[in-house]
Amino acid sequence: MAKISQVDLTDLNRSLEERTPQEILAWAVSVFEDRVAIMSAMQKAGSVVCQMASAAGLKLKVLFVDTGVHFQETLDTRDRMISDYGLEVITLHPEQTMQQQIEEHGILYLTPDGQSTCCDLRKTQPLMNAADDYDALISSLRRADGGRRANVPIVSVDTNTQTLKINALANFSDREFDEYILREKVIVNPLHEQGFATIGCNRCTTPVLPDEEKRAGRWRHLGPWAMYCGINPTDVDRGGAKSIDLPSELVDKVLNRTDDFMI
Ligand code: SF4
Repeated sequence: MAKISQVDLTDLNRSLEERTPQEILAWAVSVFEDRVAIMSAMQKAGSVVCQMASAAGLKLKVLFVDTGVHFQETLDTRDRMISDYGLEVITLHPEQTMQQQIEEHGILYLTPDGQSTCCDLRKTQPLMNAADDYDALISSLRRADGGRRANVPIVSVDTNTQTLKINALANFSDREFDEYILREKVIVNPLHEQGFATIGCNRCTTPVLPDEEKRAGRWRHLGPWAMYCGINPTDVDRGGAKSIDLPSELVDKVLNRTDDFMI
């Protein structure tokens, strides 16, 4: 095994800045083979990544965390990724149903501390349990979303899941993003048409007004200090010195220290 840190990824990230999202996806498959998967919450950006993978014929699995309290529209979108795009979607579940969790812990999502615990139990832990099967996970954060995502790297070290996170859409502007969805007729969660800028659990997500921030509808009942759930550590952790362990040959491949593949 060898260590790889955010600093080690500097040159790679610089070279990937010039690549299209589709090229970044193809690079990810060429390097990580079957040890990379897409993470999607069945929001618009995740659907774009899924469509791109499908259109390019890339054999990428999709990980979807079903918290047990998703909107039906979100579950229907998940099913269309399978039926219309032919993708293998792996649905991950928390250990407890929401009812079991309430009986043991009370209604956690009503307080800031409780929300953090609830998101950890229902989102982060199911992903952690699956992460051993992967060296890299493809996310769909975009810098254009602003906030803590404004400077998200294309490839980042995730010390929680011990994987590299690949944000294939990091550079996609709002205009490019909207045009792509229209041009390719990407299947998107119908809740977006109903004013939901971002979509999470039905307990904690509301539509937003046209002049509100995109994430204003998340945990609105908790006030402005709850904007992110932590499932994307680049939202909350920008430490460049932290490292993860990956197989030595893979680290060489990621950092282009071999000549048997192209980036
Ligand atoms: S978004 Fe709300 S209901 Fe969903 S896991 Fe987080 S706190 Fe719990």
